[in-house]
Amino acid sequence: MTNVDVAIVGGGPAGSAAAYAAAERGADVVVYEKGVPRADRDRLGPDSTDAAGFLDYWLDVADLEFEDIPEDVIEQELADAEFIGPTERVSVDRTGIEADYDGFGFTFHRAKFDDWLRSRAEDAGAEYLVGTSVKSVDSELDGAHSHTLRLGDGESVTTEYLILADGPQRQVTMRVLDPLLPDGKRASELLSPPTANHIAYQEYRRFPDELFDADSMKFWWGWMPGETAYPWVFPNRDNVARVGLTMPMGMDVEAFDASEWRLLREDDEQIPSGGVYVRRLLEELYGDEYDVEADFPLVEGHGKSKSTETYPISSTRPIESPTEAGIAVVGGAMGTTSAFHEGGDHVAHRTGLLAGELAAEGRLTDYNDAWHDAIGTEIRRNVAMADVVSEYGPADWDRTIRITRKMFESSESGKIISKSNARSAAGGLKLYTQYRRAKFRYRKKNYAQIRESDYQF
Ligand SMILES: Cc1cc2nc3c(=O)[nH]c(=O)nc-3n(C[C@H](O)[C@H](O)[C@H](O)COP(=O)(O)OP(=O)(O)OC[C@H]3O[C@@H](n4cnc5c(N)ncnc54)[C@H](O)[C@@H]3O)c2cc1C
Repeated sequence: MTNVDVAIVGGGPAGSAAAYAAAERGADVVVYEKGVPRADRDRLGPDSTDAAGFLDYWLDVADLEFEDIPEDVIEQELADAEFIGPTERVSVDRTGIEADYDGFGFTFHRAKFDDWLRSRAEDAGAEYLVGTSVKSVDSELDGAHSHTLRLGDGESVTTEYLILADGPQRQVTMRVLDPLLPDGKRASELLSPPTANHIAYQEYRRFPDELFDADSMKFWWGWMPGETAYPWVFPNRDNVARVGLTMPMGMDVEAFDASEWRLLREDDEQIPSGGVYVRRLLEELYGDEYDVEADFPLVEGHGKSKSTETYPISSTRPIESPTEAGIAVVGGAMGTTSAFHEGGDHVAHRTGLLAGELAAEGRLTDYNDAWHDAIGTEIRRNVAMADVVSEYGPADWDRTIRITRKMFESSESGKIISKSNARSAAGGLKLYTQYRRAKFRYRKKNYAQIRESDYQF
């Protein structure tokens, strides 16, 4: 049996950031990553996606410098994002939030980003074992804490500090936390993957020159049913775009009026699959003038396999960790991904850095305060927005996009969400008030669904 200072379950952005921060401070660190094959990676690696987007201020939230990210990780620097409702649209070329990075944002190759984070951790001295699953953890919490991880290869390792970075499926996280929580607060109830996660699907397609918008991300809201369900197009390099969508799992098509939603059909007997939705989106947008299959071909060498990817994505509220037990939960496992815009790499990276640093310094009990300070504003804003739009139908999205356009136009520069900007649009003040109320509900860190005081051991 091996002994380490810090053992990390999962080698995505959160786990690798934790490993880097802990190893840099001299701790003996090991990351266990079960390893996932991809068409565009020649070895096993973490469960990455192909492309992802970052907004300007997300770099500050992540505690990353744009200049430090290797050039080949970046796909496109962005000028704007477009939000398209059933009839309204708004193009947004700034976030209105202070940021060090000068541009609006960028898209990047997540598998290359993850590989870079892994090598940064290894260069700092962390051991990153890929192809090794963590099967279970036995925790000794009498007096000094110690955790024994049982591995898929039959080996085991004992550690003082355990960092759970196993992403939105949380199979290890739930098993470790449940015995420390009372009924009604169990991690497997509050963070159960089928209810706390969305499913995401994406395809890599080459766009005709005249349609490829290299510096704009696009999101269609109010086109498909389900809470924060929407399709998108993210530009990569060489006219290749990621066309994808996210939606809750287990929806019943009978619950929706197909005539209201542009991507539903009256004869749908179930909620369409991701592939059907993508095809319908492209047909709706370009089908009159283009042959979608021939003019937007799937591009080989991208994605997990066959130019497509299907993933779970956390779409809930975060939890605090039982730090007195020497345990920190980070990134997607702790539920930091925004239930509103599904961005999560920035908060995964930051929570990982914090947990790694504090574990290495023997101060893990500061972790909950530290992550609230670092990402609390971002989380509170996102969970409040997710609440406001949770029951939205197509007309609500149109109204909100129209109000956003007016608010954006009247803000010229600086903050976009403000009372005076809201006054500039009919219905703006009502929307602004709903958002403020939702935010108020989450004051005093109430956006955390499990608090440190809930743990019993
Ligand atoms: C389709 C899609 C698009 C997205 N787009 C964006 C975007 O544009 N911008 C953005 O910021 N975020 C985006 N996100 C969210 C972002 O990907 C997540 O928030 C982020 O990956 C969370 O990082 P993580 O390290 O916590 O978890 P993950 O990246 O999920 O990593 C967890 C790792 O743990 C490993 N693992 C799990 N169980 C075990 C085990 N028992 N033993 C060993 N290893 C294990 C897994 O293999 C995996 O590699 C997107 C997500 C999806 C699915």
